[in-house]
Amino acid sequence: VLVVRHRMQNSGKWAKTMDILRDFEDKCATPIGKLRQVADAMTVEMHAGLASDGGSKLKMLISYVDNLPTGDETGIFYALDLGGTNFRVLRVKLGGVENVKKEFQEVSIPPNLMIGKSEELFDFIAGELAKFVATEDEDMQIPPGTQRELGFTFSFPVKQSSIAGGTLVRWTKGFNIEDAVGLDVVEELTKAMERVGLDMRVSALVNDTVGTLAGGRYSNTNVIAAVILGTGTNAAYVERANAIPKWQGLHPKSGEMVINMEWGNFRSSHLPLTEFDESLDNDSLNPGEQVYEKMISGMYLGEVVRRVLLKMAEEAEFFGDTVPTKLQKPFILRTPDMSAMHHDSTPDLKVVATKLKDILEISNTSLKMRKVIVELCEIVATRGARLSAAGILGILKKTGRDVTKQEENQTSVIAMDGGLFEHYTKFRNVMQDTMSELLGEETCKNIIVELSNDGSGLGAALLAASHSQYLEYIES
Ligand code: BGC
Ligand code: MG
Repeated sequence: VLVVRHRMQNSGKWAKTMDILRDFEDKCATPIGKLRQVADAMTVEMHAGLASDGGSKLKMLISYVDNLPTGDETGIFYALDLGGTNFRVLRVKLGGVENVKKEFQEVSIPPNLMIGKSEELFDFIAGELAKFVATEDEDMQIPPGTQRELGFTFSFPVKQSSIAGGTLVRWTKGFNIEDAVGLDVVEELTKAMERVGLDMRVSALVNDTVGTLAGGRYSNTNVIAAVILGTGTNAAYVERANAIPKWQGLHPKSGEMVINMEWGNFRSSHLPLTEFDESLDNDSLNPGEQVYEKMISGMYLGEVVRRVLLKMAEEAEFFGDTVPTKLQKPFILRTPDMSAMHHDSTPDLKVVATKLKDILEISNTSLKMRKVIVELCEIVATRGARLSAAGILGILKKTGRDVTKQEENQTSVIAMDGGLFEHYTKFRNVMQDTMSELLGEETCKNIIVELSNDGSGLGAALLAASHSQYLEYIES
C-alpha cells in the first residue's frame, strides 16, 4: 500500500510540474496574429515618441547623427564602449573601408562600480583608457600637436544636446548609479580624463545601436537599422527628418536623422507577460521599466527560467522534498548557461546535468526532468526571439520596407550585434524564421539581417572622425 501511495504522490507531483510547464507555455504563446499586433503597436508607439517628448514609452531619442559614414573617413581615433558587463577601449586607424586597423582591449567592470558613485565609475574608465593610450605604437600615433579624439559609445538612454553631449535619462541593465542620472556623461568623462591627466576630446557620444548602424553603413550602404540583442536590447534606424515633429532644430542637409528608439522600454497589452515576468520586474533595479527588454535580452532570459524552476521546486517538489538553496538566488542562472542546456545534443542530456550540478548544486536528476528543463529554455528563448522579430517588423513598417515594392528592388539590411544574437544559435534561428513567417518569402529576400560584430566600436570611431574638431576647423 505504501509503495502504491508513494507512486501516486510522485505522479501527482509530476502532473503538477507539467501543469506549471504547460500553463507557462500557454501564457508565453506568440502566434503570428499576436506578433502582428506587437509590430503594429511598436509602429504606433514610434509615431507617438517622435511626435512629442514623453509622448510614448518609446523615447525615440534624437542622436544628432544626420550623416552616416561614407568610407572616406581618415585618421586615428579612439573609441570607448560602455554598456554591458565589459567595457572596451579601441584605437582605430581609418584609411578607407578596406583599410581599417583596429586595436582593442576589453576590461571587465568591477560589479561594485556598477552600483556605486558616478565619479568612481568614470575615474575607473578614464584610468583604463589612459593605460591603453600608453600602448600606442609608432604606426598608430596621432600627428604631433593634435589632440586625441574619442567616440564614446554609452549604451544607456541619453537625451542628447548635440553630437558630443547629453544627459543620462536613467540606467538600465545591471547599472544603478543614482548620482549620475541627469548629468552630462561627456562632461563627467572629460573631467575624469582631466583628473587622470589624459588629454583627449570626446567628439561623438553615441548609443551602441547608433554606433552599430554607423559601423554597418560604412561597409554596406543598404544598412537602414541596427538592433542589439545582448545584455540589453535596443534598436536605432534612419528616419526622415520631417517625420520627427518633436524636433525643433535645423533640418539637416541629408534630410535624415538616426533615431535611438530605446525599444527595451516598449510595453503593450499584446505582450505575453506571465507572473514570472511580473515578479522579475518587481524585484529588479528598475521596476516598471524596460518591460520588453526583460522578456528578450540576455540579462534576463536565464532569470525567467530560474523563476519557473523555482516554482516547480516549491509547488511540485520538482527537485525532491527540499527546494535547492542555490535555485533561490536571483540571476544565478545566466543566459549563456541556459543556452548551453538548450543546445545540449547528447542523448542523455549530459550538459544539462552538469550545469545543474555546477551552478545549482542539484544532482541525481532523471532524463525526464532534464527534458523538462530543455523545454523550459525553449519556451523562454522562443518567446524572446519571436518578440524581437515583431519589433523589427515594426521598424520595417514605419519605414515602409515591410512590403516588396515592385518598381524598386530595394534591399534593407539590419545590422545586428550582441552576445545573445551572436552566440545563442537557437534564439537567432527562431528570430530569423519568424521574420520570414511575418514578411513572407518574397519580401524576406530583400531584408537581410547581418551580424555586425563589434560594429559599435568602429562606428563610434567613424562618427568621431566625421565630427572631428580639425575637420570642422578646415571646413569653416
Ligand atoms: C539600453 C540601450 C542599449 C541596449 C543595448 C538597453 O538596456 O537602454 O541604450 O542600446 O540596452 O545595449
Ligand atoms: Mg555592447
